[in-house]
Amino acid sequence: MSTGFHVDKLSDEFGQYTLVLKCAECGHERKAEPLTLGRLCGWDARLEDVAKRMRCSRCGKKRCTLKAQFVYEELHAHQSRHCRISSA
Ligand SMILES: [Zn+2]
Repeated sequence: MSTGFHVDKLSDEFGQYTLVLKCAECGHERKAEPLTLGRLCGWDARLEDVAKRMRCSRCGKKRCTLKAQFVYEELHAHQSRHCRISSA
């Protein structure tokens, strides 16, 4: 473990990460901001507890797994801006 990046609760790492939600039933994957889930479930909620409450938007099953993914916010913002311009 060299990175030191570890998220157990939503408030860990100051919420500076992206959550990847994956449905074990149909494989549907989507990303969520810790801010959104923090407001919904509380910042002290643990990832595994949050995952149990999530419902898949495609198949409606409650079989989501949650994974925290470290992101470089600036790079992320730049990329999404670029995408919006090229698709307009
Ligand atoms: Zn699903």
